Amino acid sequence: MQKILSNTEISPGVFLLSIKRQVEFLPGQTVKLSLDNDLPPRIYSICSGTGDAQLSVLYNIKKDGALTPRLAGLSRGDAIRVSEPGGTFIGTAEPALWIATGTGIAPFYSMLRSGLGHNKTLLHGVRYANQFYFHTEWEQQLGDRYHRFCSGEGPEGIAHGRVNRFFEQTRDPLPDRVYICGQATMCVEIRDLLIARGIPFGNILCEIYF
Ligand SMILES: Cc1cc2nc3c(=O)[nH]c(=O)nc-3n(C[C@H](O)[C@H](O)[C@H](O)COP(=O)(O)OP(=O)(O)OC[C@H]3O[C@@H](n4cnc5c(N)ncnc54)[C@H](O)[C@@H]3O)c2cc1C
Repeated sequence: MQKILSNTEISPGVFLLSIKRQVEFLPGQTVKLSLDNDLPPRIYSICSGTGDAQLSVLYNIKKDGALTPRLAGLSRGDAIRVSEPGGTFIGTAEPALWIATGTGIAPFYSMLRSGLGHNKTLLHGVRYANQFYFHTEWEQQLGDRYHRFCSGEGPEGIAHGRVNRFFEQTRDPLPDRVYICGQATMCVEIRDLLIARGIPFGNILCEIYF
């Protein structure tokens, strides 16, 4: 068991939970979280850098979910079981396009904080404008390679609609390697779109959350 250092609601219903980092991991990997033996662990992308002192995860409360409502009730000092890191959705130094929806931004934030952001373009799609997690850091580090899409409202300076809009708007050549993280239907839809644009299937990595 590990002690929680913080569990902060960074946007309505979305929390950043941190523990002390005691292990090495690769940017993009996941950990399994559990509170007791009654419930199987749930998987979460690590949402902090490989050199950060804390190991964090970003999660949203699934109202009828078994774990996340309980996670949201935890405070500093409470105990949580955290597995060894694992997973194959791993960032590299090669140029790539990163595509995320919602909390699917987590592995990319880990990659960014681990020094892999310099030759990457990020597309982040959310429903509401207050869900662009870490947007200040993204803006600072990626500049015009950071593209935001908001489907539920149309704030100024942010594209209205889903991440798919990016591909309608740009005919520029795409990087050879593409990472997609989020909901299954989005991943499949974007993957098919990329294949139609000539990206080899083997160069498209997907991390499906649910
Ligand atoms: C590889 C991997 C990485 C993941 N990383 C993250 C992460 O970084 N952050 C994160 O928030 N979640 C992540 N998830 C999802 C996470 O593991 C849990 O499924 C989620 O937190 C819900 O857990 P729960 O126990 O509250 O709900 P459960 O009791 O497990 O959920 C009940 C049902 O709701 C569905 N569901 C789960 N999440 C959502 C959702 N957000 N919206 C709609 N339906 C949903 C499930 O498929 C299930 O059918 C990841 C999943 C995988 C497989």
